[in-house]
Amino acid sequence: MAYNLTSDRTMHKVICSDCGSEAEVPFKPSGDRPVYCKECYRKHRPERY
Ligand SMILES: [Zn+2]
Repeated sequence: MAYNLTSDRTMHKVICSDCGSEAEVPFKPSGDRPVYCKECYRKHRPERY
C-alpha cells in the first residue's frame, strides 16, 4: 500500500522520431508531431521563437 507513487500516470509507447528506438512518454502522442525518447528529447528541447 505504500508504493503507489506513479500509478495514475499512464505511459504510452512511442517510437522515437530521432533514433527510432522504443520509448515511453507520459502523454498521449497526437500523431502529427514528432515524439522523442528521453535522451533525444533533451537534444530536441522545444525552443521559443
Ligand atoms: Zn531517441
